Amino acid sequence: MSEDVLIYEKSRPGRTGFSLAATAAGDDAVDRLIPASFRRHDPPALPEISEPEAVRHYVNLSTKNHHIDKGFYPLGSCTMKYNPKVNEAVATLPGFARLHPLQPDEDCQGALELMYHLAAMLADITGFARVSLQPVAGAHGELTGLLVMRAAMIKRGNVRKKIIIPDSAHGTNPASVILAGYEVVQVKSTDAGTLAAADVAAVMDEDTAGIMITNPNTLGLFESEIAKIAEVVHAKGGLLYMDGANLNALLGQAKPAEMGYDVLHFNLHKTFSTPHGGGGPGAGGIAVTRDLAPFLPSPLVEKEGGRYYLNHDRPDSIGRVHNFHGNFANMVRGYAYIRQMGAPGLKDASTNAVLNANYLMKLLKDRYELPHDTTCQHEFVLSASRQKKRGAKAADVAKRLLDYGYHAPTIYFPLIVHEAIMIEPTETESKEALDRFAEAMIAIDREIDENLETVTSAPRTTPVRRLDEVRATKTLDIKYVG
Ligand SMILES: *Cc1c(COP(=O)(O)O)cnc(C)c1O
Repeated sequence: MSEDVLIYEKSRPGRTGFSLAATAAGDDAVDRLIPASFRRHDPPALPEISEPEAVRHYVNLSTKNHHIDKGFYPLGSCTMKYNPKVNEAVATLPGFARLHPLQPDEDCQGALELMYHLAAMLADITGFARVSLQPVAGAHGELTGLLVMRAAMIKRGNVRKKIIIPDSAHGTNPASVILAGYEVVQVKSTDAGTLAAADVAAVMDEDTAGIMITNPNTLGLFESEIAKIAEVVHAKGGLLYMDGANLNALLGQAKPAEMGYDVLHFNLHKTFSTPHGGGGPGAGGIAVTRDLAPFLPSPLVEKEGGRYYLNHDRPDSIGRVHNFHGNFANMVRGYAYIRQMGAPGLKDASTNAVLNANYLMKLLKDRYELPHDTTCQHEFVLSASRQKKRGAKAADVAKRLLDYGYHAPTIYFPLIVHEAIMIEPTETESKEALDRFAEAMIAIDREIDENLETVTSAPRTTPVRRLDEVRATKTLDIKYVG
């Protein structure tokens, strides 16, 4: 399409989208007011185009990507649910959006109050004593949580070397363990897809700082031996870290602190409905028990005599893990979401997330292999092994779904399922949307027998077809025009 050119290529010298009235300060105001060393000598190399051209350019670009406002987005593990638009309106209120992060506490009482209450609500939802909102991603929360565990152990004079991780874990877990200065000890899941306390006991020793467990795990299964595992780990002086990326299944149903966990990270951008994708700003705060609270990052928002302030005077703190206070606008969105939903609404959300996942799983399990055939939580993992035998891999099925107007599910993760297809419908989809998606998955399964090539050469309807994935990663070319 001729429209598919860079905005720089649409630029014509002298064309403008917006003009400013002359300033009363005079034409020489810039020279007078800004010292020469801070003034630019050449105009910025920005495209020169009219306002309608700019609007069309970006509207056209926005339709090339799949997004949650366009259609179903069953990307397992990522919780791509619909985000109420009012959260955006709240996050852009000038009183929040125009705050300077270095403004004195007195001038931003509203923002501090919001952080204080958001932290308290997150603590309440999970049963923990204290929350830090500073980390800006789930993975960043993992690292922060591990550093908090480490600081607590160093304080007790008991530095340990290892952290246990199940083989179903997300890749960020072992990466965070290494960054935090520990070694990874892997423990295998049972055939049922969950952890056995006996297997944890076999590797837990006095040189192990603890265990990281996602619950429900990445297969969408609840770790039912969690209380026993907590006993085993605590008995040897270790701590339990919960990867809280799958909290969408637990809201209002169960509190991780009561299962025996000591630390947990949130992904506000998954569970608490702030938009995410494309590496955009996230929020990955952590919650901890009373014993670990002194080690949380500084500062923490506290309240004294009706006034909110940032407490920097926390001698055992691991210090800062991010500039300023983390991604504040995401906290506003998360706060707005929790307040809209209330406790009953959050419980409904997790109930419906689990119901939707089980409904969709039932619709698909005759045609696609379901390696762990039991009630799932908010997501489930199929295997395309039967399809592969007939010539189409999980990746082919995923690519073909794009032609049906869907975002592909997560594939090839978790690693313990051969040809994995990981589907998370979320609570915000209707029964009709789930029925249509199941029909598409079943139609693709039929196409494998009737016209294999349509599946293996998909997608056909997207702006770009099948990319050379290795080359796309190694030599990223964002100017590619299909
Ligand atoms: C998304 C996810 C993470 C990492 O979170 P980010 O916010 O992407 O850094 C960790 N564990 C699991 C299970 C996840 O799904």
